[in-house]
Amino acid sequence: MTKKIFRSIICVSVVTFLACFVFIMGILYDYFNAQLISELKSEAVLTEYGIENYGEDYLKGLKYDNRITWIDSDGSVIYDSDADAASLENHAEREEVAEAFEKGSGSSQRYSDTFAERNVYYAKLMDDGTVIRIASSQYTVWTLLLAMIQPMIFVLIIVIILSVILASKLSKKIVKPINELDLDHPDIDGDYPEISPLLKKISRQNMLIDRQMRTLKRNEEEFTAITSNMSEGLIIIDRGTAVLSCNRGALKLLGKDEAKTGESVFVLNRSENFRKAIEGALSGEHKETLMECGSRIYQLLANPVYEGGSINGAVILIMDVTEKEKQEEMRREFTSNVSHELKTPLTSIYGISEIMVNGIVKPEDMGRFAENIHSESGRLITLVNDIIKLSQLDENSVTTEREDVDMLALAKDAAFRLKTVADDNNVTVSVSGEKLIINGIRSVLDEIVYNLCENGIKYNKPGGRVDIFVGVENGRRVLKVSDTGIGIPQEDRARIFERFYRVDKSHSRKIGGTGLGLSIVKHGAAYHNASVEVESKVNEGSCFTVVFAENK
Ligand code: ADP
Repeated sequence: MTKKIFRSIICVSVVTFLACFVFIMGILYDYFNAQLISELKSEAVLTEYGIENYGEDYLKGLKYDNRITWIDSDGSVIYDSDADAASLENHAEREEVAEAFEKGSGSSQRYSDTFAERNVYYAKLMDDGTVIRIASSQYTVWTLLLAMIQPMIFVLIIVIILSVILASKLSKKIVKPINELDLDHPDIDGDYPEISPLLKKISRQNMLIDRQMRTLKRNEEEFTAITSNMSEGLIIIDRGTAVLSCNRGALKLLGKDEAKTGESVFVLNRSENFRKAIEGALSGEHKETLMECGSRIYQLLANPVYEGGSINGAVILIMDVTEKEKQEEMRREFTSNVSHELKTPLTSIYGISEIMVNGIVKPEDMGRFAENIHSESGRLITLVNDIIKLSQLDENSVTTEREDVDMLALAKDAAFRLKTVADDNNVTVSVSGEKLIINGIRSVLDEIVYNLCENGIKYNKPGGRVDIFVGVENGRRVLKVSDTGIGIPQEDRARIFERFYRVDKSHSRKIGGTGLGLSIVKHGAAYHNASVEVESKVNEGSCFTVVFAENK
């Protein structure tokens, strides 16, 4: 801008100088011209007077600055101050002379061959019918211009130098307030009212930008607040896989401390599934895949983000589905176990009954075969009953109303019902403790006591003991079932509550176990807000403690 102002000032100065020069030249030239004509007129009058009084002698006696020609009424030259009159041609046709013959006076101008000089003529008709003509030469405008070109260049140089100095100072002075403008807070009533509409517009734009920035910031804060509190991981990338946003959940799940904006998303995880999902999303597909990260299983959802019809990036959602996958795995195992557990007794029943149907069973074996069918179907019924109980606890669909149940009485009853089994196994069962009221589902609480007591008897040694204690121990309301049985190895202790898990499969089956007893105990306890603890020593015995929370 400074340069432009600078150049403009210099241009204006030079043009103004030239225009002034031409203008003055024109005025001067016209002035001198008029002056010359007036001089010629005066001289003509004087000469006329001289001729009238002294005739041709007057002319001869004159010292001439200008050329004087005396022309007869027929146009022939009587006298000429610069040339021999006889040698001159007839002047009647000369413009000024013809005009003087016609109107009494006449003037004309003629240029020399080089155009460097201009001859100015003035002719006057005298009383005797002759014409006196005075001629003077004058420099033309061009000659004048040529003569003045040197001083003019000199003056022009001075003008340019002065213009440069002035222009430089002036342009800086003009631009200074503009350079010093505070566009964030423009002063509308500043030095230049011309730019105040622009400043007003800037001020309005600033306000608009301010408002938009505030909205953007608020949106960003809301987005960050929402995404940072999400347990799921959320990553947004551009089409070149550079991370635009990555929430805390994603960093936690991927085991990273930070994700630098602009860094490739593959820095966060280099697994093949992760890469394929992102590449798929960036090529426009909806990708859904599972990814293992250490001991955890993550579900990955990657979707393309479109802008104006073309893919501009992708959004990746990471969810920890380890528990869900484990449950799914358990469900699959459970289904396969149930099928297997059901199939075994059914195959046995089917086989025996087929032999019986074919009539190839000896009458004496009939009783044994019937006994087998009876025990296998008994196993089936127990298994189906256990599955029903477990699924009721799973689905929270135990319909019976809660009631106050005395656990001591319940334990005594279970021990009583198991007496025959205990006797058969040569195991003594004792119940001790105090009255302990639990508000719960009687049948479920009974199942807990019964299963623990039955296990204590089943997995015992001949002559062994099962001691049931009900009451408060160390400030905790407990049901404790300890035995002097075979014990549970350390490595199996964590798994005995799993469905169908048995330490010794063949032994457990032989003694009629379904592998669901402890699962029912665990779920039943959880249903009553109670936990189950187990202590055991192989060959010495085990102790199961059900710890009840306070009644609400
Ligand atoms: P089961 O119907 O086979 O008894 P449970 O779920 O009741 O199934 O028990 C799971 C496994 O835990 C049993 O197969 C057994 O190996 C072991 N177990 C349970 N209770 C005892 C105990 N008191 N002493 C030793 N082992 C036990």
